[in-house]
Amino acid sequence: MSAGLDGKVAFVTGVSSGIGAAAAHALAAAGARVFGFDLTSPAVTCDAVRACGGDMAGYRGDVSVEDDVIGAVGTCLDSFGTLDIAVNCAGTANECPSLEETVEDFDRVVAVNLRGTFLVGRESIRQMLSHGKGGRIVNIASDLGYLGRAGYGSYCASKGAVLSLTRSWAREFAPRVLVNCVAPGPIDTPMLGPDFMSPEVRASETAIPLARIGSVEEVAAAIVFLSGPGATFMTGQTIGPNGGSVMP
Ligand code: NAP
Repeated sequence: MSAGLDGKVAFVTGVSSGIGAAAAHALAAAGARVFGFDLTSPAVTCDAVRACGGDMAGYRGDVSVEDDVIGAVGTCLDSFGTLDIAVNCAGTANECPSLEETVEDFDRVVAVNLRGTFLVGRESIRQMLSHGKGGRIVNIASDLGYLGRAGYGSYCASKGAVLSLTRSWAREFAPRVLVNCVAPGPIDTPMLGPDFMSPEVRASETAIPLARIGSVEEVAAAIVFLSGPGATFMTGQTIGPNGGSVMP
């Protein structure tokens, strides 16, 4: 099935897990060729997308490292010849009281969530402007970028910055590149699991109007929409698949 992304190439980070993996599947189902980038090898996601009839290549690297991002974008161009859509899903969090958070941990969260988004966006937009067809950037923030959360200062600050970077880039690169954002609420991925979140915080996640955790497919649908022909008059906007946690 195609939903208007035939002939497009989508560069997606964080594809080895969670929302990024679902976005890779959904973009491929919509007709895009997908180039996936992750700290963990994207091979499993590539195989799964190909098994569903999609076209996907992968690259292992760190979004916070400039040379890795430049290498990945270059490999995407070598593989697929172009880059039309960039989706910044890679992210991390550090649940920690702010007075106990180390500089190293704070910097790591900001480096992955904000510097990574900047680097992937910058390299992608350079390609979109140089090939003359323009393109789309879809950044992934969080409802916590609006709300804040005790014990998540570095994460919330990094996501608030992603919301702001989205609006700045939307103004800077209009009309050739449309830059939008998806700010999910609680979604069923490892980020809500024990490696990232205490059971107490996890238990509070359903205290939202829709009273449940969302699925990765519900976020991927918003990503595909912002990447496709239905979103040609949208830039600088944020869509919130968040169960009603934020109603800006
Ligand atoms: P996830 O399942 O943990 O996926 C994140 C992916 O990003 C993982 O594959 C991870 O690889 C990768 N990654 C982490 N650091 C990286 C780096 N430096 N370079 C390249 N890849 C890196 O989490 P998710 O929930 O799908 O998160 C996706 C995005 O949605 C994140 O930006 C997150 O902040 C955002 N979000 C999630 C929720 C939620 O409730 N789940 C809500 C709002 C926003 P490793 O596993 O190897 O670290």
